[in-house]
Amino acid sequence: MKQLEQLLKRFFGYTAFRPLQADIIRQILQRKDALVLMPTGGGKSICFQLPAIYLPGTAIVVSPLIALMKDQVEGLIANGIPAAMLNSMMPEEERTRVRQHSMQGKIKLLYISPEGLMNELHWLLPRLDISLIAIDEAHCISHWGHDFRPEYTQLAVLKSEYPDVPMVALTATADKITRQDIVSQLNLQDPKVFISSFDRSNLSLTVRRGLNKREKLNTISAFIRRHRDQSGIIYCLSRNNTEMLAGELQDMGIRALAYHAGLTPELRNRAQESFIKDDVQVVCATVAFGMGIDKSNVRWVIHYNMPGSIENYYQEIGRAGRDGLKSDTLLFYSVGDLILLRRFAEESGQQETNLQKLETMRRYCEADICRRRILLSYFGEETDQDCGNCDVCKNPPHRFDGSQLVQKALSGMIRTNETIGMPVLIDLLRGSLREELRNKGLDRLKTFGAGRDLSYKAWKEYLYQMLQLGYMEIDYVNENKLKATELGKRVLFGEQKAQLAFYKEEADNLVPKPSGRTTKYQPIRPRQHGHVDDSLLDSLRQLRKQIAERESLPAYIVFSDDALADMVARKPVTLDQFSEIHGVGQIKLDKYGKVFVSLIRFVLKLPQMT
Ligand code: ADP
Ligand code: ZN
Repeated sequence: MKQLEQLLKRFFGYTAFRPLQADIIRQILQRKDALVLMPTGGGKSICFQLPAIYLPGTAIVVSPLIALMKDQVEGLIANGIPAAMLNSMMPEEERTRVRQHSMQGKIKLLYISPEGLMNELHWLLPRLDISLIAIDEAHCISHWGHDFRPEYTQLAVLKSEYPDVPMVALTATADKITRQDIVSQLNLQDPKVFISSFDRSNLSLTVRRGLNKREKLNTISAFIRRHRDQSGIIYCLSRNNTEMLAGELQDMGIRALAYHAGLTPELRNRAQESFIKDDVQVVCATVAFGMGIDKSNVRWVIHYNMPGSIENYYQEIGRAGRDGLKSDTLLFYSVGDLILLRRFAEESGQQETNLQKLETMRRYCEADICRRRILLSYFGEETDQDCGNCDVCKNPPHRFDGSQLVQKALSGMIRTNETIGMPVLIDLLRGSLREELRNKGLDRLKTFGAGRDLSYKAWKEYLYQMLQLGYMEIDYVNENKLKATELGKRVLFGEQKAQLAFYKEEADNLVPKPSGRTTKYQPIRPRQHGHVDDSLLDSLRQLRKQIAERESLPAYIVFSDDALADMVARKPVTLDQFSEIHGVGQIKLDKYGKVFVSLIRFVLKLPQMT
């Protein structure tokens, strides 16, 4: 084990294995099969990369997407590990070269697409000394999984061709049917199953509800300013919204692009590449964006609209913080989204299932208990601990007797014979002089203006709570009008009390729009103001970006955000100190040690080394 830890430091620059990694590696080194279930960012790759380095011969890694292969191969080469890939998009000469190098035993890890593997099965593979076989994204083999790939089913032949080669299947999709399907289809022999927790405790969870478009924009702009220069994704329900948002953000001087399936492949590729290379900070995207993006330093994910299910939501927020660093997620939720998503679900082929999933998602959004506990229990992992890293944990609700508010709202609804929706009800309660109200004669009702003391937003928030608590409901078949429930009527008639959670206006929404200014890349010039750590981090980022551009690599392949954060924390001013930094292995020390150390000395105003 000691030796493996040394390899981990030498090649990857990490000092310790994460939970399960060492056990999985041991299993493979004993030439036994394994099934590995770990969430995105859990550290699956090391589990087969390290044994591949340790064992003689070449490891075969099957991976479904060229972008994923490319990312991993680049990462390995950057760490001095001989790796290569074979796929149909490469020119034939290059493939020939890779085959030759593999046969000469020069490649430690060979990444192949499943169809590529079938092509090489009878010619190349028998000529290699295969150390292990890793099947990445193994859920693609299952019809039950969400990205079934027919080519994956052919991988069944591998076990019969190579019965003695250890095989490890890895996936982030945990459900039971898929799991069994993977084992039986790959014909894994008595595999040990490793399931790591699906908790992504580094992701903060926040839900904001009932914000209008302007308020959402203000909140997003304040959020992005708090995440200066940090990459993030904003998921939207519609293509139009992605473009609208990207435009608004650009106007604020934020480097943002839209991404959706309606764009040409060139535009989509360009958006993806610019994001990976940190040329744009924000991608406003439909759910089409993300699969195949292995960028480890996505620092935040915002849902501009509510997702249709917890699975989708978890997968989408899971694109943040794959490097394990603290990352933030924010979800906007509104009755408008709910109405739209209900319609989608009703028009879908599996109406019942989809409505049920939406209902679970709604309950998550409206929860007033620790959100992470809801997520984990959804994935079958119960815990009795609150997480401390969700909005509910950070701001536990303060309750008060809200019976009067419920009575006002319900009496307003009932006096209009339940013919109004939320916006008109709020105007009615607040005594708005809007023409629509006067035309309908609502200004003559007894409840008109009965709730003047509360702001529009506050009423909206309390009405959401009343919906959630079941005092009223939305009549989806009848133009989404509000209806009083039996429970609500009991409160109305004073037979029962209603507890509501006190609502406090958030400061974010009130932040004015910043003036438009684009942050363009500048030669390294440390920021003079603010804390030295900020200015150091800023300079390190600039240097990383320059190197990445020169080497045509994504910045996070040069150094992860983690590594930069460690440099800021430890301020290494000698090469020895630099070698201790998280993510600095031998190759990166040799290649980048000097420039980084001299930059750190420069920012700290220390003399340069001679
Ligand atoms: P997955 O494939 O499970 O989504 P990765 O293998 O890409 O995750 O790992 C996620 C991140 O965690 C990568 O940046 C990786 O370098 C880092 N990582 C993996 N193992 C360790 C470790 N033992 N110590 C520190 N960082 C690690
Ligand atoms: Zn919590």
